[in-house]
Amino acid sequence: MKLTFLGATHEVTGSCYYLEACGKKLLIDCGMEQGPDLYENKPIPVPAADIDMVLLTHAHIDHSGLLPLLYKHGFRGQIFATGGTAALCRIMLLDSAHIQEFEAEWKNRKSERAGKELVEPLYSQADAEGAIGCFVSVDYNTEKYIAEGMRVNFIDAGHLLGSSSIEVTITEGDVTKKVIFSGDIGNKNQPLISDPTYPGGADYVIMESTYGDRTHERPADDDHVMALAEVIQHTFDRGGNVVIPSFAVGRTQEILYFIREIKQNDMISGHDNFEVYVDSPLAIEATNIFRERMYSDFNEEAKELLQQGINPIGFSGLKTAVTSEDSRAINDDPYPKVIISASGMCDAGRVKHHLKHNLWKEESTILFVGYQAVGTPGRAILDGAESIKLFGEEIEVRAEICQLPGISGHADNVGLMEWIRITSEAQKPDMVFVTHGEDKVTELFRDRLIQELGLKACAPFSGTVFDLAAGTFEVEAEPVLIEKEVREGIVQAKQDGGAVVRKKGSDRGAAGPASSRNKKSAAIYTRLVAAGNRLMTVIRHNEGGANKDLNRFAEEIHRLCDKWDR
Ligand SMILES: [Zn+2]
Repeated sequence: MKLTFLGATHEVTGSCYYLEACGKKLLIDCGMEQGPDLYENKPIPVPAADIDMVLLTHAHIDHSGLLPLLYKHGFRGQIFATGGTAALCRIMLLDSAHIQEFEAEWKNRKSERAGKELVEPLYSQADAEGAIGCFVSVDYNTEKYIAEGMRVNFIDAGHLLGSSSIEVTITEGDVTKKVIFSGDIGNKNQPLISDPTYPGGADYVIMESTYGDRTHERPADDDHVMALAEVIQHTFDRGGNVVIPSFAVGRTQEILYFIREIKQNDMISGHDNFEVYVDSPLAIEATNIFRERMYSDFNEEAKELLQQGINPIGFSGLKTAVTSEDSRAINDDPYPKVIISASGMCDAGRVKHHLKHNLWKEESTILFVGYQAVGTPGRAILDGAESIKLFGEEIEVRAEICQLPGISGHADNVGLMEWIRITSEAQKPDMVFVTHGEDKVTELFRDRLIQELGLKACAPFSGTVFDLAAGTFEVEAEPVLIEKEVREGIVQAKQDGGAVVRKKGSDRGAAGPASSRNKKSAAIYTRLVAAGNRLMTVIRHNEGGANKDLNRFAEEIHRLCDKWDR
């Protein structure tokens, strides 16, 4: 009965846990790391072919994206997930494989010309198909034995269609332990999907902390609709288009829900039956899956609409079958329209074409409906960039730029605290493992659990092994920075043992022998170097940003250097 922490430890992506229990080897999530990355993730400690089962919390690629790779390496077991998750994974894993193949092909074209070695895609469409064939659908709130002595229960996490927290109950001999994997915990009052369900308590809780340090702005429920109607009305009145960069799965369908309400209540005047284009192949497929699963997966409010014969995400004027020719034609049509297109942060996909055609037009509006990471064109536009480079061309920003605040699929720190408070009221856990948050956020949130709720909590690093039966750490892993972040000298610290992994009972800290102290200093210095490297990454991400921001950023760095250069 052992749990090993592999991914999304002190990081927000790459969710993966390895569980050995009842003679079986399982993974809980098998996600891909996305975006900038600080620490090394330990590999799965056994060959992929030896993994018997995967329990999947939800379809987002940072939780599911390496399932095709697992299949490629020989996994042929079962992947347990809800019907909604299985359906979304069908399109998302194939889309991810397509991206892998496309990127490898692009690199190889360059490598061929340069006489360099060719690369293989991380995985292929065939690998994705193989993984998709391993899915076994389970219902919410239905306990299911998946092995002798092991039963699982998927409960609605309210984060995405089909998303779950998973309760795993393990009996070995006369010891029974229950473990909860929170998955990503949803935000309340989202359209289409239900609020998160609170698990009924457990011996151990593994919980996410993405927004552990942030509170969402909380407009009243229908404010999103009012605000969106207002943006559409004044943009259309001046003859422009509303371009909404949106994540394809989940967010796009929420926006359709809002626009359906706007149309249903005649909230736009003078532009009868205005057109709304969903221009992203993945968003269109996802919308079809949402339609197929309306009766089973939507929340009560949306089901009531269905009972009245209203499609919650459908309306006249909606165009969801957009070929690439249609996509190009959208911008030749002079009538004002809403264009919803991916990617949500404007760094890829068809939305870039729509930005090219609309950013420079004073009459158009670019409306952001989700988080924009530092370094993305979306963030630069939102932060007031005067121009943006698209397809090698400098495009001036003259359109109106606005944002719908408070839209998020994740619980904020208030929601997370509520989730763990209610969960631990049912049974106080012996330990809460805080994961799936940025480096410092996991530690901050862990401290809140200890100080405010009196819980035992930790924020494990990748490679940590916990014995669930004994309630003790077998390995308490230290952080290992990713190779590319490590500078000379620091590499040496890693090579001679480098305080990378501490076995149970080994020395650590000031009371230990000199070599242990040196190793600890090396590890801490390594962390500082990583922070420095992260700063360089952030600087590179800001290239092309607004001059006033770049100046301010430079001044802050100088202040920091003046303080520490002694
Ligand atoms: Zn997620």
